[in-house]
Amino acid sequence: MEFNVPKCSVMAHVEPSVEFRIQGEVVPYVQSAVYLGVECDASRGVIFDKKHQERCAKVVNTAKYLKSKGMNALGWRTNTKVLAYKSFLRPMMEYGLPFMPARCKMLDTMEVTQNTVMNMMLSTARCTSRGAKLKLLQIESMGFRREKLQHMFFHALDQGNPSDAVAYLMWHAIKGNRGQKSSLALAVNSNRIFEFAKAHESNEVGDYAMRLKFESMQKFDAEKNGKRDMAASVRTPTGKASRSAYLDPKHIKADQHVVTMLRVGSLTFHQACARCGTAVSRAHAWECSGEERKLKDHFPREWHEFEQYEHRNSLIFPDFVMNKMDDAYESRHTDYGDVIFRTILDSAKTIRDVVSGYVRSEDGRTWSHPLNHATKGRPKRKPVGKDTAKPP
Ligand SMILES: [Zn+2]
Repeated sequence: MEFNVPKCSVMAHVEPSVEFRIQGEVVPYVQSAVYLGVECDASRGVIFDKKHQERCAKVVNTAKYLKSKGMNALGWRTNTKVLAYKSFLRPMMEYGLPFMPARCKMLDTMEVTQNTVMNMMLSTARCTSRGAKLKLLQIESMGFRREKLQHMFFHALDQGNPSDAVAYLMWHAIKGNRGQKSSLALAVNSNRIFEFAKAHESNEVGDYAMRLKFESMQKFDAEKNGKRDMAASVRTPTGKASRSAYLDPKHIKADQHVVTMLRVGSLTFHQACARCGTAVSRAHAWECSGEERKLKDHFPREWHEFEQYEHRNSLIFPDFVMNKMDDAYESRHTDYGDVIFRTILDSAKTIRDVVSGYVRSEDGRTWSHPLNHATKGRPKRKPVGKDTAKPP
């Protein structure tokens, strides 16, 4: 057997006082090295740095390619886009994730990467509410993915059904020699799903993980002066095989898109109202267009319920109704959900055309806002509000 000596290395905290040789050549001493694509450091252990940054960049580049092939607002169906992301793009940045510590800074980069891809899927602007998109597309946070993948990897090792014999031996050696005090064992034992699985049946673990998954979509929810922000206004999914108006393939793609745009706040980004000149907030759009009044007339029972609702001051009535729609889809009352969907669709179109100032393209396929054309090519403008938009 021959070794490629320059590719070998000795990794240690301090430079060894002796020389290591293979085939007569000195094996170089290093502080850190990349092993099987994972960065290892003599003092810090497995680290996620430059190499992982490159992976995230690769996700964005591949996403740009997929976007040109149809992973955009006018291309594939939303459920197809989500599937493409989860099958081809997300795994690229999940390499080595079972070893990533819970507080790793790289997780932020991964959340940003995921957000960039979601914006490509929906053709929304960078500052569109991240949390709202996660909930509507039913995509969990990368923080949760880390926890889940770590649990799956170490649970398999712990249960003695190893898919990787070397990892199995190492994990049990770590546990045996240094007890539960090694940094890896400490990290794994603080994994909520891993801990939960020690005392529960696998179906219970599945339900628990599912709950954490949906909870992770609330990561970006916020409330200010008693008012929920865009993300917090959107209901968090709870069901296993979540059906939703935004993903159900039975709806016309363009209809689904305009409802989604309304929902993530892309039609209202504090531009001047085309009808009255006031800055367009979501509440203003509903009121000024007359669509909120129509909604009350359409759904008197829901309006009555809203009036009794203890958190009624924290969100607007249309959000309350749309959350009812999400509820209905999830509990398979799709007929009721469809009634709401059609009503919201009409309102969304009116708001887009009458209040938000969107203009239809000559071929009739796209809608865009003149403000977006005017700022094209100029340096990036600071958004006025949280809800900034691109053509729906
Ligand atoms: Zn107005």
